[in-house]
Amino acid sequence: MAINMVADHAKWPETNDPIFGLAAKAKEAINKFGKENVIDSTLGALVDDDGNLICMETVYSELKSLPNAEIAGYAQVAGQPDYLEAVQEECFSGYRPNAYIKAVATPGGTGSVKHAVFNYTNSGDSILVADWFWSPYVTISEEVGRKVANFSLFNEKNEFNIESFKENFESLLNKQKRLVTILNTPANNPTGYSLSDEEWTKVLDIAKENAINPENKIIIFVDAAYMDFAGVGLERKKFFTQFTNLPDNIFIIIGYSMSKAYTMYGLRSGAAIGISSNEKIVNEFYYSCMHSGRANWSNGTRGAMSVMTHIANDPIKKKAYEAEKEKYKTMLRNRAKAFVDASKEVGLEILPYRDGFFVSIPCEDAKKASEELIKDNMFVVSLKKGLRFAVCAVSEEKCKKAPAIIKKVLDRL
Ligand code: PLP
Repeated sequence: MAINMVADHAKWPETNDPIFGLAAKAKEAINKFGKENVIDSTLGALVDDDGNLICMETVYSELKSLPNAEIAGYAQVAGQPDYLEAVQEECFSGYRPNAYIKAVATPGGTGSVKHAVFNYTNSGDSILVADWFWSPYVTISEEVGRKVANFSLFNEKNEFNIESFKENFESLLNKQKRLVTILNTPANNPTGYSLSDEEWTKVLDIAKENAINPENKIIIFVDAAYMDFAGVGLERKKFFTQFTNLPDNIFIIIGYSMSKAYTMYGLRSGAAIGISSNEKIVNEFYYSCMHSGRANWSNGTRGAMSVMTHIANDPIKKKAYEAEKEKYKTMLRNRAKAFVDASKEVGLEILPYRDGFFVSIPCEDAKKASEELIKDNMFVVSLKKGLRFAVCAVSEEKCKKAPAIIKKVLDRL
């Protein structure tokens, strides 16, 4: 008889990551049919028109020029002090709120999600996320005995559903008296939606109304993993200034990631950045996250931190890095525009796209649709509520063709 050796809390379904599984199938199809005949829209990484991972030259020349000891050495548990300065500059880019702010290094944005979920909820609590969401929020929450509740991201008019946010936010807060809500914006994964500054004001008004009751503790986690590829110039960072003068019982955490902004996915670097009107509350955040860091991963990737610090502190390197990033931002925007325009032309319903790596197509049986699309040599990730097309990974020419193929498959399902 088979026995379980893992403890009860560590027993999970024996499944592999479905996205990486689909990506492997796409690779097989490319080998068999040639890359020009396959649309591989699986992975959330920038890929050039020939299907190669984009690795920013300004980033990797910097990494490779570091002395070995600066790559090999341990970083401090909270992160290198100059990195903790640089990451705040890079995150806010002139839109720093007037508040007490402290950063702690994490291995990617994922580490910051873990800090927020574990350190700001009690055992058995639910966190609140949109119904179109990045599935590791659930994995991270379940791992530590927390649950995930959803609000509807969009209403019937396909606008940000502030009513659903308010209803779910208040019902959980009334029950738990503390609530972590994750807003993955700008450039939401999987929809490409970005909250406007006005929508942010509405979200904060709801938080402020509920903060009048001093028993309530409200934590808003802004998952900004795709922020660098959002908007024109720095327009999608303006909302940060709204985090000025918040009541003490509203705490903001920004999840910052170097994965996309520096094409450093595997080098695991990011930060949790805490914002409060009260100095004691950001200090408490800093020491709480430092303890968690030590307990979970000890410290972050020293060489990745150095890359950011060196680029941020050298105006010539910074200019070259910004120019290179801008080139890819434009590439992404052109691809997304091609996909959105072609969807309109063929009458394919998509969710409102504003920025970023993905476009989502709502549909009833997304799993079936994804399987059927494989027959057309198209590889698209299925989610609970629809398909996620990764414009970051597909050439503009193929982005133009894809909607018609998807529409045909959805019409016959
Ligand atoms: N948040 C979202 C929505 C993401 O899609 C990702 C990466 O795919 C992350 C956070 C964090 O990524 P990383 O840990 O690589 O920085």
